[in-house]
Amino acid sequence: MNYCSTRDNSIQATSAQAIASGISKEGGLFVPKEFPQFSYQDLCELEADDYQTRAQKIMSRFLTDFTFEELTSCVHKAYTSEKFGSDKIAPMVLLNNSTYVLELWHGPTCAFKDMALQILPHLLTAAAGKVCDGQTVVILVATSGDTGKAALEGFKDVDKTKILVFYPEDGVSPIQKHQMNTQQGENVAVCGIRGNFDDAQTGVKQIFTNDAIRQILAGHNMQFSSANSINWGRLLPQIVYYFSAYCDIMGTGEMDYKGEKVNIVVPTGNFGNILAAYYAKKMGLPIHKLICASNANDVLTDFIRTGTYDRNRSFYTTISPSMDILISSNLERLLYDLSGCDDAKVRGWMDSLKTTGSYTVDSDVLTAIHDLFYGGFATDEETKSTIKMVFDSEGYLCDTHTAVAVNVYEKYCKETGDTTTPTIIVSTASPFKFADAVLEAVSGEPMDGDDFDKVEALSALTGVDIPTPIEELKEAEVRFHNICSKEDMPHAVMQLLQID
Ligand SMILES: *Cc1c(COP(=O)(O)O)cnc(C)c1O
Repeated sequence: MNYCSTRDNSIQATSAQAIASGISKEGGLFVPKEFPQFSYQDLCELEADDYQTRAQKIMSRFLTDFTFEELTSCVHKAYTSEKFGSDKIAPMVLLNNSTYVLELWHGPTCAFKDMALQILPHLLTAAAGKVCDGQTVVILVATSGDTGKAALEGFKDVDKTKILVFYPEDGVSPIQKHQMNTQQGENVAVCGIRGNFDDAQTGVKQIFTNDAIRQILAGHNMQFSSANSINWGRLLPQIVYYFSAYCDIMGTGEMDYKGEKVNIVVPTGNFGNILAAYYAKKMGLPIHKLICASNANDVLTDFIRTGTYDRNRSFYTTISPSMDILISSNLERLLYDLSGCDDAKVRGWMDSLKTTGSYTVDSDVLTAIHDLFYGGFATDEETKSTIKMVFDSEGYLCDTHTAVAVNVYEKYCKETGDTTTPTIIVSTASPFKFADAVLEAVSGEPMDGDDFDKVEALSALTGVDIPTPIEELKEAEVRFHNICSKEDMPHAVMQLLQID
């Protein structure tokens, strides 16, 4: 199967090229030229499979230049019960009636990014073996917290890869910093920078595009690649769990009939997770509405309602920080699809976003969006009261991001009257990852103490067990103490790679 760029239909790539390069050279995103279809019969067959087999069957339809053995190996290295706590990998929990929670946070870093970042390194090394001839792939990441740790865990000790993560020294939580600085693995390094997240990101982009550095790397048989969320290799594994979730409830008796449609509710930031759900629908998964839930940074809610995307607005720091985003990069892939692969139009909208901060889509694209999506947002106050309400009434403890989704789903039910369609609410993080806000929501008052105290207090108050990776963190030994200025980042890369 071939891929092309959202900004230039004439730029074509194989799946290995798309994954190895991450982004198209003119700034567009790679998308598949066709979407494989899954019939009702196919779903019934997937129902009998385990998670790894479901992943293999779905991903193989997109990665036609990977061999069966390569994909088997990728899937089995990534989705193990040791790493994900059980062989369910992405378990479904019945919340009430016909509402389910799809828990995507049983991986090593307790957040949903593990679902993609555990397999991406294996896809990337297989891809690099095909298109870049045995070179070592060097991954540079700028992170504001979660992605850095998930990428480190994913790439840890993966052959022919090295990973360097830069984070803003004063811009991540103490637990996040400790998570990164205690990272195990022979091929990993972590460096704090004096600056904010934008400085880290700009620094990384400048290194990526610096010809002199690229040549030095090439001389050592290395080349850069990217693990960020616009890489097709991160999006594809996310399609799998929507199929898997649906198959898990097909036979439970909570559905009126086996091919019944479901709603999917996704707490959204960069639009990657919900885009994967849209692709699943396009491939034949019976989905009624895609419900896009945002926090106070409600740029997507406005866009879904009006057709105008406008990032010229205040940025809010919220208790669901992984959704504090004003530019949702993966939306570009949706617009490409809904405009009938009109690369010129997408290019125009993205240019306009860059120069004016906004764009407005055509009325037929907006009509399609209204057909497919519902958009809503929740404030921090609403998020906290939802955490409390869900815990008190259902005995279920959810994190702040998941609570945004629950809150917006309630608004959807009220506004549309659709209370009977079976619904899957996507849960993206363990509540212990955001113990501070979750504890305050459940107990009703802020508490003193450090994050580890709060993790323990939350467990004591709710009776919910602390996930092992968070439990172990407290005792973990700090391995990295590096701090540099943003100007020094290229030098830090050389040092960390042990090249002079
Ligand atoms: C990254 C993240 C999100 C947002 O997902 P997108 O794919 O960027 O929309 C939501 N919740 C958590 C916990 C995350 O880490």
